[in-house]
Amino acid sequence: MSMMRLAGVRPDLAERESRTVFLEKDPAVATPPPVPPGAYLFDEWYCVEPGCDCRRVLIQVYSASAVLLATISHSFEPPSENKLIRKQTILDPLFPQSRWAIDLMDLFLYVLRIDLAYGARLVRHYQAVKAAVANPAFSRPGLSHQGQLPDQRKVTRARRRDKRRRQGKQR
Ligand SMILES: [Zn+2]
Repeated sequence: MSMMRLAGVRPDLAERESRTVFLEKDPAVATPPPVPPGAYLFDEWYCVEPGCDCRRVLIQVYSASAVLLATISHSFEPPSENKLIRKQTILDPLFPQSRWAIDLMDLFLYVLRIDLAYGARLVRHYQAVKAAVANPAFSRPGLSHQGQLPDQRKVTRARRRDKRRRQGKQR
């Protein structure tokens, strides 16, 4: 299946509407969190196969220093009985995963639970990608996993903001 980054198909949407999640250190909790505090970018990939309506998104989670930490495959609906993969959300076995991958998948599912607009946004992005690739003028890349790197400026900004916030707390 041919996949492309949202940033490669609709850079305007990727720039405006990509989700970065900030994990802050909670001084009230003694045990260290499973995922270190910091900014995590949820970079979206969608299927650009003509005529395919798989209704799913691939989420690549990047650290603030742009290290790929997890690749999550998420279907918009629960799988039907006859599907080979029975889970709606999995760590994609075709990609290397980090030691935090499972916790980052939990974080993604948590964000979906608490923010219904985010789930709706992913579906909207999927539809926007499908509409873009259905246009005969759309040029398809030769390789299935080509695309641009996530927006570093945004991650760096997020990181600075995160740092400021932490410093503010110490004062
Ligand atoms: Zn598809």
